[in-house]
Amino acid sequence: MGLLSVGTPLEWKDTRNYAEHVRDNGTIQLINCFKAAINRNNDKFLWGDEVEYMLVKIDDDSKTAKLAIDKDYILTSLNEDGEHYQKALDSNVIFHPEYGRFMIEATPLKPYDGENLDDYLYVEKNMQLRRAISNNELDDSTIKPLTLTSFPRMGVEDFTFPKAEPNGNASKSLFLPDEIINRHVRFPTLTANIRRRRDQKVAINIPIYKDKFTKSIDPMIPKNRNLFPFSDNESTLGAAKPGHIYMDSMGFGMGSSCLQVTMQASNINEARYIYDSLVNIAPLMLSLTSAAPIFRGLLADQDVRWNVIAGAVDDRTPYERSEKPLQGHSEIGNTLSVESLQRIPKSRYDSVDQYLGDINNGEFNYFKSEYNDLNSPINEKVLKTLINNGFDQTLANHFAHLFIRDPIVIFNERLNQDNETETDHFENIQSTNWQTLRFKPPNQSAIPTNNKTPGWRVELRPMEISITDFENAAFADFSILLSRAILKYKPNFYLPISKVEENMKTAHVRDSTINCKFNFRVNVWNNSDSPIIRKLTLNEIFNGCDEFEGLISIVEKYINETFKDEKDKVNGKLSMYLKLVSYRSSGKIKTTAKFIRDFVINHKSYEHDSVVNDSINYDLIKILSDLSNYDHDIIKEFFGDEISKWMISNGY
Ligand code: GLU
Ligand code: MG
Repeated sequence: MGLLSVGTPLEWKDTRNYAEHVRDNGTIQLINCFKAAINRNNDKFLWGDEVEYMLVKIDDDSKTAKLAIDKDYILTSLNEDGEHYQKALDSNVIFHPEYGRFMIEATPLKPYDGENLDDYLYVEKNMQLRRAISNNELDDSTIKPLTLTSFPRMGVEDFTFPKAEPNGNASKSLFLPDEIINRHVRFPTLTANIRRRRDQKVAINIPIYKDKFTKSIDPMIPKNRNLFPFSDNESTLGAAKPGHIYMDSMGFGMGSSCLQVTMQASNINEARYIYDSLVNIAPLMLSLTSAAPIFRGLLADQDVRWNVIAGAVDDRTPYERSEKPLQGHSEIGNTLSVESLQRIPKSRYDSVDQYLGDINNGEFNYFKSEYNDLNSPINEKVLKTLINNGFDQTLANHFAHLFIRDPIVIFNERLNQDNETETDHFENIQSTNWQTLRFKPPNQSAIPTNNKTPGWRVELRPMEISITDFENAAFADFSILLSRAILKYKPNFYLPISKVEENMKTAHVRDSTINCKFNFRVNVWNNSDSPIIRKLTLNEIFNGCDEFEGLISIVEKYINETFKDEKDKVNGKLSMYLKLVSYRSSGKIKTTAKFIRDFVINHKSYEHDSVVNDSINYDLIKILSDLSNYDHDIIKEFFGDEISKWMISNGY
């Protein structure tokens, strides 16, 4: 997640004072990137995926499952010259740090080719290698890299191994020790500076799943701690809402894992069109991959991680959020002055607020400015500079919106940069705007012809991580094949973006995958008409209905036309991937979230009070770990007869 500069981070008051310096120079760097790359064309459709893992210690003697926070050295050995690093490289795998000390991220070393069927079939193999290599690196066979979206007992009692106390100065959390945070100085500084900017800890409140004996006041919130007097009583001053799971630290969100895919478009216009198309697909993919029904040891009345992370990095002051400050806290937090602030409806981690517009596309032009109908404030100064430098209004708006944020961490050694060759100031703002999509311009070295540096890219970011490589490969492939199909057949998926925002909220509802309806434009081929919007279930959107043929059938058409001479290959694994997407969206098989929730509710020691105790946690992690190894009994229940039979006969 983001840029890892080396050096000394500035103190908060200096960070605050240099914010404008970073934005000013970041704007120039952005302009220079555009100047260098605007005419770059005919780049190959390359793509990659990112998988985030949690290292979990499963102790069969004590029957506990905990987050392992002392194994982060594996990232060093996997990234330093030597045998282990070489093994990763030889396997076409590369490892990266993530927010949690218990987390690792892994990607393919070389991108996949989106025009090559073999590469779609290879993704899962690459994911298996990542799991195996990181697993091998661990000196403790009871620790496993698992692809869990959220760790069920995070923040409850001693949920880490080794044990650590929640008494750290970076987060001041009542629940999370600072020892869960990546040791790289950027991460504790991010954590502390988000809190400092707000002048209050983050306050995440997720509705609790109400069972027969669920308490409305959470007894697990410590009431009388007096370690950090200014922060410790926030929960009693109103930061913790009754009937909700209260969380007070960045780690609850950024300690979650997801699946992301990034694709390279052939030029800027194509990138803008694919970005806008996927804005409408993002909430659907979030719901479809739902995998996070438990937070801080309690069943939640929602299935996904998204708003937890949004809350976890929400550095806005009460004034910006249009809320009253807690007693004793300031309305403008720890920023410069109220004049320097504006009202900001959403956190810096949230869904896309504005389309980029496909307006420069010579071939067609579906975007209408009225589709950008959300209140998304902009930085006027940045907007003006960009317009003066040739950016069109919609594109300038996009970046001017990202630039309403302050940089949260600035490194002393990186204050002065060469804007002709460096992009750290731009990246500082860009990479701490965590939205459902990210539009990535090439850097200045990207000369207008094809070269080795990456071109115009789009990252799709909403998906939750699934337990098995099979599912993660399926969702990654599906998103990319859908993007390929979009580029080929040019549907018009535009909705007023406020309708996408509604879909984002819907995607949080418990069992939204099968029970909820999403706004969807059904006249996707009548391209220039006004949108005909229907409320459809995911089943109707993915598998088709009277008014829309279904996303899966669009993908199938693309596959059948593009890989028509490779039918044998298509009929195996790839068709199973599509079945997974189809059966999850129809409810024929459960989402991961539903599987986990049902497991908890039916567990013998569950007391119908929403509490996921240590024993349930252990049994759940055990079963998910076995599932990640395709235990034959579990895959039958998890994937249903058809897919599990195929898996078993194909050597899983
Ligand atoms: N782990 C974050 C998530 O679940 C994403 C962090 C990143 O941008 O890599 O969305
Ligand atoms: Mg990441």
